[in-house]
Amino acid sequence: MTPAHVPSRIAAMFSVDDWANGLDRSQVLGYTESQYWLSSREPALRIGQGFDVHRLVPGRSLILGGEEIDYPKGLEGHSDADVLTHALIDAILGAAGLGDIGMHFPDSDPAFRDASSIGMLQVVCSKVSRLGWKVSNIDITVFAENPKLGPYRKAIVSNLADAVGIAVDRVNLKATTTERLGFIGRGEGIAASVVALLDEISGTGNKDDSDENCRRNHS
Ligand SMILES: [Zn+2]
Repeated sequence: MTPAHVPSRIAAMFSVDDWANGLDRSQVLGYTESQYWLSSREPALRIGQGFDVHRLVPGRSLILGGEEIDYPKGLEGHSDADVLTHALIDAILGAAGLGDIGMHFPDSDPAFRDASSIGMLQVVCSKVSRLGWKVSNIDITVFAENPKLGPYRKAIVSNLADAVGIAVDRVNLKATTTERLGFIGRGEGIAASVVALLDEISGTGNKDDSDENCRRNHS
């Protein structure tokens, strides 16, 4: 159930499941409706960071940034275990004050088994858009001993830019090893770290009118 103290206009932005999954921890609920909209009309930027790690195991496809990578192992996880996209989702949620990926897509929910993380990213982008924010730019670092991501860089950046609804030059992808040190260096897992900047959607009077604000504002 949506908490009784949540203004109806804000409550309507999220599904019942969202509230059940802990959205009442979000900063939105610290405001009255008028305070929230007044605050969100001030020019503002919000920054968020995300970090994720998944274990490399045999018998799984390796998906990074929505792209299937040719590699003998894949990442273990409930969804498609796209570690790069998970870190990006957490960065965007963090900037918007909306908690973390586990609150929105719990790994106890069978609906998210082998789910596309790019699909989750699109859902998150829609939610953030309805709160009056658009993604301004994204900076990603992937930590992996192998495989090399150079041949996939263009496709990954394109997948992420499309999902978020921004131009490809606003998505930066870096990859590094850990000089064969630690679990990443031994090839036991892959990590990703992302910083995302949110900017206010211009013409905030229209902030709640559709899921497509994010795309429109960058088209
Ligand atoms: Zn993850």
